[in-house]
Amino acid sequence: MPMAEPWQPGQEVVAVYDFKGTTVEDLPFAKGDVLVITRTTRDINWYKAKNNNGNEGMIPATYVQKRKEVSLHAMPWFHGKINRDNAADLLKQRQDGLFLVRESVNFPGDYTLSVCCDGKVEHYRIIYKNNKLTIDEDSFFDNLPQIVEHYSKDADGLCTKLITPLPRVGGNFFSVSPEEFTQGGWTISLSDLVVGELIGKGEFGDVHKGLYRDKPVAIKKLKDDNRAAQSFLQEASLMTSVRHQNLVSLIGIVQDETIYLVLEFMGKGNLVEYLRSRGRSVITKKNQINFATDTCSAMAYLEDRKLVHRDLAARNVLVNDEGTAKVSDFGLADRIDFNPAHVGGKFPIKWTAPEALRDNKFTSKSDMWSFGILLWEIYSFGRVPYPRIPLADVVMHVERGYRMEAPEGCPPEIYQIMTDAWKKDAKERPTFQTVLHKLHDLQAVTV
Ligand code: ADP
Repeated sequence: MPMAEPWQPGQEVVAVYDFKGTTVEDLPFAKGDVLVITRTTRDINWYKAKNNNGNEGMIPATYVQKRKEVSLHAMPWFHGKINRDNAADLLKQRQDGLFLVRESVNFPGDYTLSVCCDGKVEHYRIIYKNNKLTIDEDSFFDNLPQIVEHYSKDADGLCTKLITPLPRVGGNFFSVSPEEFTQGGWTISLSDLVVGELIGKGEFGDVHKGLYRDKPVAIKKLKDDNRAAQSFLQEASLMTSVRHQNLVSLIGIVQDETIYLVLEFMGKGNLVEYLRSRGRSVITKKNQINFATDTCSAMAYLEDRKLVHRDLAARNVLVNDEGTAKVSDFGLADRIDFNPAHVGGKFPIKWTAPEALRDNKFTSKSDMWSFGILLWEIYSFGRVPYPRIPLADVVMHVERGYRMEAPEGCPPEIYQIMTDAWKKDAKERPTFQTVLHKLHDLQAVTV
């Protein structure tokens, strides 16, 4: 039998069973605890590991499982929000079993499966109910790929089985399966959570303060709507694949009647409100350079991993009780080709680089543009960018070369970074790595 690869130091594992330990060398843990491997031993069944409280000891490999990344699956047959007539035009007079799935126009939150049968197009409503999807209220599925798989094997009441997907032109939508979070060791039981006071409102639902095994956490609770569930799970899936001291980390997810994301608790809330509420009298130059460096450090990590954030802004940076800033809101990051949140003019125009607005060209260089705006927010204590220009005119002014002035009291070195970040030609903008070096130098001399 081939031997499994030994885990390397730094690997995160999750406890599958309780372990009480038998000697003082052992590190006791409870099911669901996350441990980090610190050393391999001569015995492949035992590792040295560290727990959340910093205690170290021996753990048996068979009591834990490796924490795995959750990945996204492309859904080439998913066409998003197109109406019945469009779907019919795409499918009619073509071969039997050609199909696509779209968002229901009449029943928001539901979907429609459109299939070609005998030259005509049939539409089946896919109902979202109790976190599951169903066509006939008899068979229930976790996600759209599962429905497609089922009806590809057997018509099961439809006019034909699904034979050929009609691919969407212009990029894929993605799906993520809830069960992969369980397989990857990310599932938390609701009974381990205490949901406390409301601390924020997000696009997909409320954010509460809470406790997970007596540790403070933030709990993002999802509204009952599958479209939101998918975006929500996509955000979570991305969070399973990144780890950095300046990225808000995912602790786990609860999949009960609704979905909860359990996140590291950031006690001082989002950076823009933090800056506004404290202002010039409280926030020091040191605080400002620290926020800038923290954020840049996370962005340099994302840049290195070829991940594009797309929505970097002070409102998406959170501050913890120690004053460390961390980037959050990965919902829009690059693995998702198309972001439903941006339909309907919700584009953060004032933060988005011209080429991204114009040609949908999102890169680390367009993130750098947004970082320039974020720096401006930090040094203006949370003002709204382009204060005197109406939103509708911002793009025109920027395209003609207008750039914001330095905020009052902003160090010239920082303003230089802003203007570099706002170069019209994306290639001329610096990398996050380069800016990080400059910020570190500046941080060292800022008191
Ligand atoms: P969305 O991106 O859906 O708009 P956010 O993630 O920005 O939602 O959350 C909304 C608000 O909830 C934030 O502005 C912040 O005040 C609060 N919040 C979100 N995540 C946390 C967290 N991990 N710790 C503390 N507060 C948080």
